[in-house]
Amino acid sequence: MESQFGSPDVIVVGAGNAAACAALAAREHGASVIMLESAPLEEAGGNSRYTAGAMRVVFNGPEDLKQIIPDLTDEEIASADFGSYTIEQFYDDMGRLTEYKTDPDLAEILITKSLETLIWMRKKGVKFQASFGRQAHKIDGKFKFFGGLACETWGGGEGLVELEHKAAIRDGIQIFYETPVIDLLEGDDGIIGVKVRIGNKKVDIHCKAVILASGGFESNAEMRARYLGPNWDLAKVRGTRFNTGGGINMALKAGAMPYGQWSGCHSVSWDMNAPPFGDLVVGDSYQKHSYPHGIMINARGERFVDEGADIRNYTYAKYGKVVLEQPNMFAWQVFDAKISPKLRDEYRIRQVTKVQANTIEELAEKLEGVDPKAFIETVKEFNQSVMTDVPLNLAVKDGRGTKGLSIPKSNWANTLDTPPYEAYGVTCGVTFTFGGVKINNHGQVENEAGKPIPGLYAAGEMVGGLFYYNYPGGTGLTSGAVFGKLAGDSAGLAVTQN
Ligand SMILES: Cc1cc2nc3c(=O)[nH]c(=O)nc-3n(C[C@H](O)[C@H](O)[C@H](O)COP(=O)(O)OP(=O)(O)OC[C@H]3O[C@@H](n4cnc5c(N)ncnc54)[C@H](O)[C@@H]3O)c2cc1C
Repeated sequence: MESQFGSPDVIVVGAGNAAACAALAAREHGASVIMLESAPLEEAGGNSRYTAGAMRVVFNGPEDLKQIIPDLTDEEIASADFGSYTIEQFYDDMGRLTEYKTDPDLAEILITKSLETLIWMRKKGVKFQASFGRQAHKIDGKFKFFGGLACETWGGGEGLVELEHKAAIRDGIQIFYETPVIDLLEGDDGIIGVKVRIGNKKVDIHCKAVILASGGFESNAEMRARYLGPNWDLAKVRGTRFNTGGGINMALKAGAMPYGQWSGCHSVSWDMNAPPFGDLVVGDSYQKHSYPHGIMINARGERFVDEGADIRNYTYAKYGKVVLEQPNMFAWQVFDAKISPKLRDEYRIRQVTKVQANTIEELAEKLEGVDPKAFIETVKEFNQSVMTDVPLNLAVKDGRGTKGLSIPKSNWANTLDTPPYEAYGVTCGVTFTFGGVKINNHGQVENEAGKPIPGLYAAGEMVGGLFYYNYPGGTGLTSGAVFGKLAGDSAGLAVTQN
C-alpha cells in the first residue's frame, strides 16, 4: 500500500494555500514532495478555496503592485489612487488590532516577506488583480483604494487553489485526496513520517520532513466549545468542514508547544439561514459586511455595538463574536433607501434572509424574534442622535456620529427615514481559530522547551501567535503564503543538504 505514495522527502499535510506554497517551495530545493488532503477533489483546497482572495501586502505605490499584477494597464493606474501600504502601516495594523499581543518575530516575517512572497507566487503561476470591486470607492471619477488592501487573487479562492494545484502537478508534486493524516510517526531523532487513513485501512508513510498545513479547529464543534466557550459549538462554519484540528492535536501529542489565543477566533456576521458549513457556489457571500453604514439590533430591539467604529476591514472579524453573544445568537442589520443601493454585492444574492417594509412600524413586525416596540423606540432615539450637520461620506471615516447614545455610532450615522426600509438577518459565522502551535523563525515546530522538533514544520491557520481578538482583512492568505514558503524552504533545504 505504501508504494502508491513513493518515498517522498517531504510530506505536506493539507492542500490549501499554506500547503501549496510549502510544497512548491520545498520542491524548488530539489526535494521530492507529496501533499495529503482529507477532502475529496471536489472539496479540496481548504478555507483558501472559499475566500474572495484578498491579500494584504506591503506596497509603496503602483510600481510594486505591477510586480504582482503585470497586467495592470497604464489607464488603470491613471484612473486610480492606489496609495501605498507601508511596512509601518502593516505593523501598526497588526499591533493595534491584536492589542499589541501579536508575536513580534512572526509579525516581522509576515510583513517584511509579504511582497517578495506574492512576487514568488506570481512566478509560480498564481495570478493577481487589483481589488477595484471591493476595496475602492469612485471619487470624482477616480478609484480611491482604502484599508491597505489593493490586491486579490484572480478568480478569488477558486482561482488561487486551481492555479496552485496546477503548479504543484507541473512541478511533479502529487496530491492525494481523501487521505486524512491521523498521526505523526516518531523516531529516535524526531518525526519520520505520518499515518493516514484510507477507507478503513491505516497506512504509514515515511519521509524526512513533515509540514503540517492542515488549518485550525474551526470545523470541530467539540473543540470550539472546549476552547472558544459556550455557544461556539452552535456557530456556523464559513468554510471547509475538514479543518477539525487534527494537525494541531497530532503536533501537541508529539510535544509541540501550544501557542497564541486558544480562546479567540475570526468570526463575522453571516446569514442566519446559511448552511452549517461553507458552500463553494456561494463562497463568502453569506457574509454581510455593510453594517458600518446601517444599524444592527438584537432580539431586545436594541443596538449592541458601535457599527461605525472603523472601516469594515478592521471590525468585521471581531463582530461575529459580538453577534454570537446576543440573545439567541442573531441580529438584524437595518438600512434605509439612502443606503440600500450602496450595499455590497453580497446583499444581492438569492440566498439572503431579507425583509422590506415601507414604514419602521411595519418593518418592526417583520423582524422575526425581535421586540417590535423596543425596536421602534431604538430607531427613534437613534434618528434623534445623529449629527446631521456633519455630511455623510461613505468613502472615508466621516466622523458623522451620534450624540448622547449609551452605545454610540462613530461614523456613517445615517438617519433611518427614507422608505423602503430593509433588514438582513445574521448570526455568527466562524472563519478560523487563532490558537495553534509555536513555530520558530524557520517554520519549525517548537516543543515545550523551545527547541525545534526535528523534521516537523507548520504553516497557515494552525500556527498560533499572530492574531489575538481581531485581524486585519486579507492577512490569512498572506500568512499562509509567507509561512508556507518559509516552512517549505527550510524543510526543502534540510532534506536535500543531508
Ligand atoms: C469564507 C471565507 C472567506 C475568507 N476570505 C479571505 C480573504 O479574502 N483573504 C484572506 O486573507 N483570508 C480569507 N479567509 C481566511 C483564509 O481562508 C485562511 O486564513 C487561509 O486560507 C488559511 O490557509 P491554510 O492553508 O492555513 O488553511 P486551509 O486553506 O483551510 O487548508 C487546510 C487544509 O488542510 C486539510 N486538512 C485538514 N485536516 C487534515 C488532515 N488531518 N489530513 C489531511 N488534510 C487535512 C484541509 O482539507 C485543507 O485542504 C477566508 C476564510 C473563509 C472561510
